[in-house]
Amino acid sequence: FLVNINGTLLKGPEAKISVFDRGFLYGDSVYEATRTFNKRPFRIDQHIDRLFLSAEKISLEPTYSKEVILSEVLKTIEAAPFKDATIRIVLTRGTNSDLGLDPALSGPNNLVVFTKEIKPNPAWWITDGVSMIFFQKKIEASGSLPKTGNYQENILANREATSRGAYDSFMINTHGHVTEGTTSNAWVIKNNILFTPPLADGVLDGLTRKALLEMAKRQMLPLPLVEKSLTKDDFLSADECFITSTTRNVVPVTKIESHLIGNGKPGALTLKLLELYLEFVK
Ligand code: PLP
Repeated sequence: FLVNINGTLLKGPEAKISVFDRGFLYGDSVYEATRTFNKRPFRIDQHIDRLFLSAEKISLEPTYSKEVILSEVLKTIEAAPFKDATIRIVLTRGTNSDLGLDPALSGPNNLVVFTKEIKPNPAWWITDGVSMIFFQKKIEASGSLPKTGNYQENILANREATSRGAYDSFMINTHGHVTEGTTSNAWVIKNNILFTPPLADGVLDGLTRKALLEMAKRQMLPLPLVEKSLTKDDFLSADECFITSTTRNVVPVTKIESHLIGNGKPGALTLKLLELYLEFVK
């Protein structure tokens, strides 16, 4: 890891932040995760825009400008020896002068940029696909979600999945609609139509999702794409299923709970979409 804290570059174990930081105390922060392809950051402007949208949703007033954040990200990428790297940007409301929720207790934001070499996806994700379970959310959420430092429900959903031997959970909102994975967007293919839940169901506006929507608009996909609320049954009866995220691209899902999806092997259309997506973003 190479870490940039408020402009200072540090090796991972040396990177430390105050225990009075509000991200630590209250999860009072927003974050982004992107990657580089051959030292070039992926859709970095969109990631920084989404960071600011998340900040606005939790009334966190950035004391860093988008331009400064971009230059700190580029500085970190430049200084790190990795060609293909994960980039995480964390912006906390700042360091508190005392314990207490009042944002007035806080000084300026803390900006942390992490970078670490990204390993290729494990080969078995493509040969076998991953398995998922369903997780019922308790917190009511509607509209596109901010990406904040408070991922408690997602952590519980992921923990439940791994404790039951699955890769991750598809989360279900309080209206019974499947929303997304704990750090990925959700997709199904049925009768040669690609479906993904709408942002209004409480879904993060994923940038991989956005790229696929953009490809659909430009007629670069081999099938139509529809944003629609989806139920558990839509997932269990799908011909194919997959998840997307910036760091993992397209990952086939071949089992949900104890049901095999399609013939239990990664779907041909899913693998085609992965290939088209990688061509598109590179
Ligand atoms: N949904 C959630 C809750 C996430 O945390 C993430 C990414 O971290 C995604 C979806 C996928 O978004 P992206 O494609 O921008 O990585």
